[in-house]
Amino acid sequence: MDQKTRYSRQTILPEIGASGQDSLAAARVLVVGAGGLGCPALQYLAGAGVGTLGIIDPDRIDVSNLQRQTLYKTSDAGAPKATAAREHILQLNPGITVHAYIEELTDKNVLGLFSGYDIIIDGTDNFAAKFLINDAAVKTGKPVVYGAIQGFDGQVSVFGAGQGPCYRCLYPQPPEGVVLNCAEAGVIGALAGIVGSVQAMEAVKLIVGDASFFPLIGKLWLIDARTMETRAIRIPKRKDCAVCSRPAADIALPNYSPVCFAAIVVEVDCNSIKDAAFIDVRELPEWEAGHIAGARHLPLSVLQKNPDAFTPPEHGKACVLYCQHGRRSKKAAEILLNAGYQDIFSLKGGYEAWKNQAAL
Ligand SMILES: [Zn+2]
Repeated sequence: MDQKTRYSRQTILPEIGASGQDSLAAARVLVVGAGGLGCPALQYLAGAGVGTLGIIDPDRIDVSNLQRQTLYKTSDAGAPKATAAREHILQLNPGITVHAYIEELTDKNVLGLFSGYDIIIDGTDNFAAKFLINDAAVKTGKPVVYGAIQGFDGQVSVFGAGQGPCYRCLYPQPPEGVVLNCAEAGVIGALAGIVGSVQAMEAVKLIVGDASFFPLIGKLWLIDARTMETRAIRIPKRKDCAVCSRPAADIALPNYSPVCFAAIVVEVDCNSIKDAAFIDVRELPEWEAGHIAGARHLPLSVLQKNPDAFTPPEHGKACVLYCQHGRRSKKAAEILLNAGYQDIFSLKGGYEAWKNQAAL
């Protein structure tokens, strides 16, 4: 088959060209999880001619997966995802090499696997895997194209690339307490398709590296599929990050038990979000002693009794909760996210940080 014809619609783009195509052919990308995110990512990476793809997934295809994992056919039910995905993407593009690993990613096999690839795509659906992928990627110096979906919300970022932050700069630890079982959490197929495709786009940008490309390094891209509102918030690198601030040799790999997403509170800086509605969750005397102009007052103690005391701000506005130092607002944000409210953030450093910023 004529490879020139196959890739002509992308090599005609000046940002890709023949040299970008050569970079794609030379690239090695490992996709962790061949599910809702991994399937679309694999399809676009295979189509684009990424020369070597790895697929790791221990699971077999269930009929209930097909609503979102449209790479598979009904007749694939019962087959291992990794080998079925390999077979299908080789039919799409027989000119690439695809390795299938029918196993779980663990602290034992992760370093060996990552060492054979340039870029890791995180298509997993639980915190344990996401922290393991992050820590191992930072240790081995590989960028991770991270993706996550929960209900109608999606997130994408690029972690561990260059001087950018890592996943632990965003979430230092897995959340505490019992949250949704991954198999029970609701998910809508088309959103998985959007997020997985954005992950493939980010990987192509990292591989081709044209000067006009700005991968999501240091940025968390968020989409609410209910309204199609999107935003990209800045994620600074934490100087005291337990992983990416350390020498590689000192990074110990974690071994958490799987915990699904729910109540993942994103902490933002004073100027991360334009035009946000501020909510002060401190108690009355603190509020009366001074607060952010235009903020609403809703104490944490009230929210703890009744999350529905909260009314979301007008359409499309993000909500930034704050307290004195940023701990109570995180708790309050967790309560609201668990109650099903969206676009809720916690102000890092609280009112104190805001005052210092305002004084500049
Ligand atoms: Zn970090």
